[in-house]
Amino acid sequence: MEQIDEKMVLEEAVTTERFDLKSADWEQLSAYMNTLGEKAFRAKQIYEWMHVKHVSSIDEMTNLSKQLREKLKQTCTFTVLKQLDVQISKQDGTRKYLFGLSDGNVIESVLMRYKHGNSVCISSQAGCRMGCRFCASTLDGLARSLTPAEMLEQIYRIGCDIGERISNVVVMGSGEPLDNYENLLVFIRMLTDVHGLNISQRNLTVSTCGLVPRMRQLADLQLQITLALSLHASSQEKRLTLMPIANKYELSEVMDACDYYFEKTGRRMTFEYSLVGGVNDTDEDVEGLCRLLKGKNCHINLIPVNPIKERDYVQSERDTVEAFRRKLEQQGINATVRREMGRDIDGACGQLRKRHMDAMDTETT
Ligand code: SAH
Repeated sequence: MEQIDEKMVLEEAVTTERFDLKSADWEQLSAYMNTLGEKAFRAKQIYEWMHVKHVSSIDEMTNLSKQLREKLKQTCTFTVLKQLDVQISKQDGTRKYLFGLSDGNVIESVLMRYKHGNSVCISSQAGCRMGCRFCASTLDGLARSLTPAEMLEQIYRIGCDIGERISNVVVMGSGEPLDNYENLLVFIRMLTDVHGLNISQRNLTVSTCGLVPRMRQLADLQLQITLALSLHASSQEKRLTLMPIANKYELSEVMDACDYYFEKTGRRMTFEYSLVGGVNDTDEDVEGLCRLLKGKNCHINLIPVNPIKERDYVQSERDTVEAFRRKLEQQGINATVRREMGRDIDGACGQLRKRHMDAMDTETT
């Protein structure tokens, strides 16, 4: 009897589980068409509708038969993000988007316009469980990881909104991309696919707080993407006060993983260092950083911390930031201060989402 029940449950699971159409790479989609008894060229058509033309419904796939469209609607999930809000900077055209997911979660993404092209910063998770002290994305913990389709969609919706090509992507929004590793890899494969947006791997940056085993696994794949490490301190003790993940992976292990990434891929590492006034911007800090990075083929991005109201961290003084940068340069370490895009709309990473969620809470209580 028990066995029968199990079988029934299993069958139900199989029949109710929908195929995530937009998260399927080229091969998976072809295989799915095969199981539906459709010809292989259907996969090509559908893939193009989704990943080149970026249609927002299955009904818009006009070269498919009505029956096939119906079948897809019955058996598949078709991910489309809902634009809930957009804030546009009057200073530099930066746009900050708030998107709604089908289960009610919200995420944010940012468009930055540079002379060399349009760059989109995407979220990899709704919320985050890494707990970095100065970051707004982590205040309410992790809601869930995003699917490949939800990561791609942020870029597609923004591209459609501005009617221009997106040439660069940075996975530096909310979430820890290496904590959503499998989906991240599918996302990378699809984003750089010649049948899709065809963005070059070199135009993609993934930022991590330092999940060592994943960094090493990624290095072994020998992709040509840029890996950015959120460093934020030059000693294990200080890093620990800002980033709880340092409890799990010591600074020395993280630095070894960075060296390994460079060895395996030949790609220069980027280090991110958010400058927090009086916390990690002293002479001792910059000297430690010089010792840590000297001789490495790397680039360091200094980010004046964006204060969030839940914590009392403040930005370093302008002169301090500049002096910090100069000292690194004097030691032959390539450093730039991250231009603060969209200061007027701002809100740090995850703040727009947080504000939206808090507002929803007050409405419902
Ligand atoms: N989980 C990834 C992506 C996070 S966001 C990572 O840790 O790298 C991208 C960068 O912004 C990280 O370096 C993060 O530490 C930094 N960051 C987050 N909140 C910030 C804030 N309020 N001010 C300055 N930098 C911040």
